[in-house]
Amino acid sequence: HAKASGRGQAQLYTDALAEDLTEKLDLERDLRVAIESKQFTLAFQPQVDLISGAPTSAEALLRWNHPETGLRLPGAFIDTAEDSNLIIEIGDWVIDAVAATIARWDSFGIQQRLSINISPRQIEQRDFFSRLRERMDYHGAPPRLLELEITEALAMTCGEAVFKEMAAFRRDGAMIAIDDFGTGYSNFARLRDMPIDRVKLDRSLIADIASSEQARIIAQAMIGLIHGLGHKVVAEGVETRDQIDVLKVIGCDSFQGYAIATPMDEQSFIDWSKADGPILAVA
Ligand code: C2E
Ligand code: MG
Ligand code: MG
Ligand code: MG
Repeated sequence: HAKASGRGQAQLYTDALAEDLTEKLDLERDLRVAIESKQFTLAFQPQVDLISGAPTSAEALLRWNHPETGLRLPGAFIDTAEDSNLIIEIGDWVIDAVAATIARWDSFGIQQRLSINISPRQIEQRDFFSRLRERMDYHGAPPRLLELEITEALAMTCGEAVFKEMAAFRRDGAMIAIDDFGTGYSNFARLRDMPIDRVKLDRSLIADIASSEQARIIAQAMIGLIHGLGHKVVAEGVETRDQIDVLKVIGCDSFQGYAIATPMDEQSFIDWSKADGPILAVA
């Protein structure tokens, strides 16, 4: 009897695996269609300077308008895109779209720095930086209006060759940020030597700063350390006025989050930028 039920369990397990695999394959197929039929768009979320209250730059975030199920957020498909290497093609689309946007806004007189999220799979390609430069040149987008966000995990593991390319890209005026800092293990000697401009403190480090003394002490120590290494600090996922007030007191440079604005489509972002609301909201 026990044997039979054991076999039953195993059957359930294989069924579940098969179902997962089918879902993944369906998603991969949908992603291929999405690339070909241009179902991706970008949302823009501003970052604001904590002293002046002025917008400093904006993060371009990938959005998928699925014809049947509607808007899909990256959390629902980025992992599959990375596992299947489709992230290369999707990432190329993002780079091209951001370069075009920078140039278009520049022609309207909006000099807005945009940041893009880069996957390990992308940056590990030998010709990543030359292709990036080529797309920027093609659209007439100056590198000083671009920032690359690489995750803490990638920053801690990427090779010397990537560092050299990052350093060269910074000499051209581009900025590099470490994203989601505080979610993994960091080697601080490595952080010291890294060719970067900014470190983005992950939302998990920010969530309790207004309610917990310990959380505030940790965030403040992180900010002191990152400043000591010569980098600027951006707080991610700032949702309340109280968090903004704490961040000002503990010396954070800028922030991004629902407290100031959610990610917006292009027209809403331009309207937001023209209004003086953002400055009043922080000062
Ligand atoms: P991320 O780079 O850390 O981006 C910040 C995420 O936090 C965004 O989620 C944003 O909408 C969300 N967020 C912003 N403010 C707040 C807030 O106040 N509270 C909360 N709870 N969330 C906030 P989103 O757009 O769903 O993107 C999730 C992740 O997907 C990004 O995290 C990034 O790692 C990845 N991603 C997004 N776009 C791209 C892309 O073009 N390429 C690659 N490779 N990854 C991307
Ligand atoms: Mg990011
Ligand atoms: Mg982040
Ligand atoms: Mg993230």
